[in-house]
Amino acid sequence: MVTHQVADADQLHRREHQQALVAELGRAALTGTPLAQVVADAVAAVADGLAADQVAVFEPSADGLTLEATISAGWPPGEDRVPLDGSSPIAQTFRERDSRLAGSLAAAPVRGEGSLIGVLAAGGGAQALSADDVLFLRSIANLIAAVTGRDRAEEARQRSEEALGFLAEAGNMLAESLDYDVTLSTLADLVVPRLADWCIVDLAEEDGTMRRVAVRAADPRKQELLDALHDEYPPVIGSGQPAGQALASGGTVMFPEFTPESLRETTLDDRHYELMSQLDPRSAVAVALVAQGQVLGALTFAWSESGRRYEESDAMLVEELARRAALAIDNARLYRSELAARQTAEDAQERIGFLIDASDVLASSLDYDETLRALARLAVPRLGDWCVIYIVRPNGEIERRAVEHAGGRQDIIRAILEAHPLLPDAPVGVPAVIGTGVSELDAEASPISTAADVDAPEALAGALEEIEVHSTMCVPLIARRRTLGAILFVSAESRRVFTSDDLKLAEELAARAAVAVDNSRLFNEAEQRAEASEALDSIADGVFLVDSGGCVRIWNVAAEAITGITADDIRGRLAGEVFEGWEQIAAVAGATPRTVPVTIEGRELWLSISGVPSSDGTAYAFRDVTADRQLDRLKSDFVATVSHELRTPLAAVYGAAVTLAERDLSGREEVRRELVAQIANQAERLSTIVDDILFVGRLESGGLRLETASVDPGDVARASIEAAQMRAGATADLHLHVAATLPAVQCDPSRLRQVLDNLIDNAIKYSPGGGAIELRVSADERMVRFAVSDSGVGIPQQELSRIFEKFYRLDPQQTRGVSGTGLGLYVCRELVERMEGRISVSSLPGRGSTFTVELPRR
Ligand code: ADP
Repeated sequence: MVTHQVADADQLHRREHQQALVAELGRAALTGTPLAQVVADAVAAVADGLAADQVAVFEPSADGLTLEATISAGWPPGEDRVPLDGSSPIAQTFRERDSRLAGSLAAAPVRGEGSLIGVLAAGGGAQALSADDVLFLRSIANLIAAVTGRDRAEEARQRSEEALGFLAEAGNMLAESLDYDVTLSTLADLVVPRLADWCIVDLAEEDGTMRRVAVRAADPRKQELLDALHDEYPPVIGSGQPAGQALASGGTVMFPEFTPESLRETTLDDRHYELMSQLDPRSAVAVALVAQGQVLGALTFAWSESGRRYEESDAMLVEELARRAALAIDNARLYRSELAARQTAEDAQERIGFLIDASDVLASSLDYDETLRALARLAVPRLGDWCVIYIVRPNGEIERRAVEHAGGRQDIIRAILEAHPLLPDAPVGVPAVIGTGVSELDAEASPISTAADVDAPEALAGALEEIEVHSTMCVPLIARRRTLGAILFVSAESRRVFTSDDLKLAEELAARAAVAVDNSRLFNEAEQRAEASEALDSIADGVFLVDSGGCVRIWNVAAEAITGITADDIRGRLAGEVFEGWEQIAAVAGATPRTVPVTIEGRELWLSISGVPSSDGTAYAFRDVTADRQLDRLKSDFVATVSHELRTPLAAVYGAAVTLAERDLSGREEVRRELVAQIANQAERLSTIVDDILFVGRLESGGLRLETASVDPGDVARASIEAAQMRAGATADLHLHVAATLPAVQCDPSRLRQVLDNLIDNAIKYSPGGGAIELRVSADERMVRFAVSDSGVGIPQQELSRIFEKFYRLDPQQTRGVSGTGLGLYVCRELVERMEGRISVSSLPGRGSTFTVELPRR
């Protein structure tokens, strides 16, 4: 009992001491003593409280296979490692999470929050350990666990504070720039070495490939290796590469610890594995960059030489970083696309502005060469350092019309081009563009490619070498479906590379320029035509142009005068509509003039017309030969008339004379006298005709002199009527009406008589059915009037003006049997006018005529 009591007393004492040790350690733990100190104190306390020789804290190794003594006192060096799955009480304690007593060895689990930190073991003392001792050991182990937990919490707090600080820093950095290449590169700088020994940023491109934006390694040799790795093994979505896996999953992929096998799984082939082994990653994490549900890329972090490992707790930080980076990328992309859209809009605005300016400049002149020069000046430097404009001549030749250089060196360029003529059928270059109407763009032009359309390309290339040709474009000038020429744009000293956008702008400029060139060409042609028509107006011949469509285009003043049709009325009308029988006229009108009858708007004209085909149609020149034609006709009519007029009395004279000579007319005095009278009458008639003709000759040669006298008009009229009555015989119904008081008339009385005789004879002659013939004499304040009227055949309206013409007869062939020379009325008019009088006629066909002579009164 006593022994027992003694033992109890010892134990009580031992327990009291142990409690004091626990309390002391607890106080130290509470006062914030560092973990390492607490653990060291704990080990010492256990040794003291249990009077143990060996005390140690075992912790699981990194590979999780063994428990290793991390802090110990007196623990035999050979026993500081125990396999976790072995029979050692320490391992059993760890596995079963319960304290145990095995002979002289006691072990208690050090339990953290939810996880086992290790095992506190003690033994080797002289005294066997009791259950109370195990309790003491557990208390100390719990204290270690508590302090470890406190320490870890603190560490976690610190780490999360750090992480937050890091994220804030990263966030700031990511927000700083909208150029995400730069941003992500800086982010990589930030990450290494705080979060990784090396880090990679890969971005997904629109075409589905990956682009490595940033690679950072703390160790420069690894940086080199990483760069080489990227060149050879760019990430492939869905491959075993960490980034490939993260991209495919859209989430985070952890590689807590690489083994050779697990590393091999992340590689594509032996060489890849070889390179990766050199990089020697120990642990890695890859996280997808996701924004708006879209995987934009991946961040890959790896710990290597530092030997650190990524844990679950790192995932949060990495993911948060990735989330922010993805947002920054997304913002930058949005900004970029917005910027691009704005740039596109600005570019479009600038292009439109340029084209509007161009249109203004091009529209400002209708001078052909001025337009081309303006065009060339417009083109540089906006569309190149120099520009050459080529124009196709009507004969198909390509002519260089304008050269412009932004730096004013056009003379040099002109001289070079001058020395190297274009090859007309070159398969490329200016002739090809003109031939096909299709533009050419040579973005990376060389002197030899630029010289491909000339006769001796090498020679020109040599000259162009100096000019540093860099890029060329050639666009056709097309208007109204015709290629008028081409513009060559060359980028040289600016080293600008032409793009398809530049070509489009050049084509748009060319389209506008072509219209302007075409306009100025048309205007020039019109101007030339106007000049030509001015010249045409000054010539006496009628000139008109009939285009290929048969329309009258030009109609000069003479044409107006001859035909009575104005240019305004005829231009644009079909020639066939204007000229009756135009086809025949067009058919005969050649280079040598032909005289053709033309009926224009009811009037018959005789035109001598010639036609010459021109590029615009056929130009006709004509002259009015109607008068000549009529004179010709009149002359032939006169010959016919006169011969008839002479033959008739001559035949009568001849007949009478022969009868007188051959027949024996003795005793037939009556017949003989009649024949002699017939001879006398016909001779007189012959003499009258000859007199008339001779009189006309005198009139026209100026050999006729008229007297001027004051004459009694009644006397002359009376004498004329009486004589006519004598000539015509008693059957003629002649009347004279003379106004009561008449003034004297100023005239040559014999010529007045001649006129009146003629008019009365005509009145009798052209009244085959008889009828009254009157001569009325009257006067007003100025004139004395003699009017001879009949009720005979009359004269058609359209002939009234012509009967006074020389030789003019209504019936030249004398079909009506009325003889005459057509000279009577001509003589009358000539005489009256010479006596300062006037002769006129009014008539109704079938009803008779009145001829009126007015002479000035005295
Ligand atoms: P002619 O010798 O033919 O009579 P004139 O010069 O005297 O020549 O007349 C010219 C033409 O005028 C005549 O041929 C005739 O047709 C016409 N003429 C002249 N007088 C008359 C008239 N009184 N009645 C009708 N016709 C006339």
